[in-house]
Amino acid sequence: MDQSQLKGLIRTVPDFPKSGIQFRDITTLLAHGEGLSASVQALADIASGLEADAVAGIEARGFIFGTALALELGKGFIPLRKAGKLPVETLGEDYALEYGTARLELDPTLIEEGQRVLVVDDLLATGGTAIAGTRLLRRAGAVVTDALFVIDLPVLGGKEALAAEELATHAVVSFEGH
Ligand code: AMP
Repeated sequence: MDQSQLKGLIRTVPDFPKSGIQFRDITTLLAHGEGLSASVQALADIASGLEADAVAGIEARGFIFGTALALELGKGFIPLRKAGKLPVETLGEDYALEYGTARLELDPTLIEEGQRVLVVDDLLATGGTAIAGTRLLRRAGAVVTDALFVIDLPVLGGKEALAAEELATHAVVSFEGH
C-alpha cells in the first residue's frame, strides 16, 4: 500500500473540533485491516534505522500506533498520559495545542537513566504535544532524539519546532494545509 492509498484511508472532517480546523481522522485508517497493518509497518521501517530501547506513545491516539510499533520492535511501551489518570506520583508538562491547552503526565519510575525512547503520536501539527512528551521523558532520564508520526501537517511548523528541541521528525504521510 503506497502513501496516496494510505492518505485516502484517512478521513478529513472540516471544522472539527472548531471552525477552521481540518480534522484528520485516523479511525477510518484503523478500521481498515490492510491500512492499519501498512501504517504500523511504515512506522517500523522508519524505526529500524533508529536506536530504541522503548517506545512512548501520547494519549490517546499515540497509544494505538505506539503500542503496535513497540510490539513490532519487541520493546516496551511507555504511556504519556493526560492529566490525572496515573495512580502514582508523576512528572507533568503543560502545553498549547492547535486548539486549546493540555497537560501530559509520566510515571518517571518507568524510565531507566539513559534509556533511548522513541516518541510516537498519530499526528504532528504545531509540535507542542510531542515536545511536552519529550521534555517529560528527558526529565525522567531518557535519551530522546526522534519522534514518529503517521501524519505530518507541515504548514503548521511542527518539524521546525521539534528541531529546535533537538528532535528529528519522521512521518508516514503528510497533508498540505491545516
Ligand atoms: P500539536 O501539539 O499541535 O502538534 O498537535 C498534535 C496533537 O493534536 C496530536 O495528538 C493530534 O492527535 C491532535 N491534532 C492536532 N491537530 C489535529 C488535526 N488537524 N487533526 C487531527 N488531530 C489533530
